[in-house]
Amino acid sequence: MPELPEVETVVRSLQGQILNQKIKSIRVFSVKNFIGTPLSVQGQDIIGVDRRAKYIIINLSQGYLVGHLRMTGKLFAVVKTQGQLEQVVKDFGKHLRVLLELEHCYLLFQDQRKFGFLQTCDSLDWLESKLGCEPLTEQFTLNYLVKICQSARQIKALLLDQSKVAGLGNIYVDEVLWQAGIHPQTCANRITDLQLQVLHGAIPEILNRSILAQGTTFLSYTFAGNQEGKFASKLQVFNRAGQPCFRCGTLIIKMRVAQRGTYVCLLCQNRGR
Ligand SMILES: [Zn+2]
Repeated sequence: MPELPEVETVVRSLQGQILNQKIKSIRVFSVKNFIGTPLSVQGQDIIGVDRRAKYIIINLSQGYLVGHLRMTGKLFAVVKTQGQLEQVVKDFGKHLRVLLELEHCYLLFQDQRKFGFLQTCDSLDWLESKLGCEPLTEQFTLNYLVKICQSARQIKALLLDQSKVAGLGNIYVDEVLWQAGIHPQTCANRITDLQLQVLHGAIPEILNRSILAQGTTFLSYTFAGNQEGKFASKLQVFNRAGQPCFRCGTLIIKMRVAQRGTYVCLLCQNRGR
């Protein structure tokens, strides 16, 4: 499932392709993947493309078109040549759920599993009310992390909670906890000050490194149509069950934490339990 670096990569890719174009028409092939009024976006200009947590925010001249990729969603643009619409539908028709015709390109939303969506809305208050701090902004201070960790919840569940730190998911939580030497089942309020400091540094560091590599392609994520992220080969612990830890050589194990498949080095990550 795409997380912050993957969504950021999609957003950056779209910024280079769809900004300052008018939406000429919209076709919704699957009502399950569209919330709101499709026709309300018709005739509107795209004046911004941004990210909040794992949401893609397309800023329109009036209101917003918000997207979430969930498991298998893909939002990408295809350059337009005259009279090409039916060809695009034919070429990308598999799992095509929504198609917007812009002035110079088509914006396509494909989603094999159909959990993703596009949604029209007048304001972003509904998002802001449920999302916590963005980890790549200066609001994400050590004090903020210390404050949210004053809880007996397991640290993995806490970091997956979008109302605490927005944008982290299963892959990057495993990576940052390995980096900080924290077992994912550790109660957040039992983590030492030193570990919290390391964790606070590791979160933006790993997210930024992944953004530079254009995200992690694991299962289905791609951007700009079919380009894959290159961070999968840089992962230190996620999806490495049975392979030696890069730090100590202990075999990585897979266990279930917060209802998610979780990768751990029991030697590096046994402290503070
Ligand atoms: Zn280790």
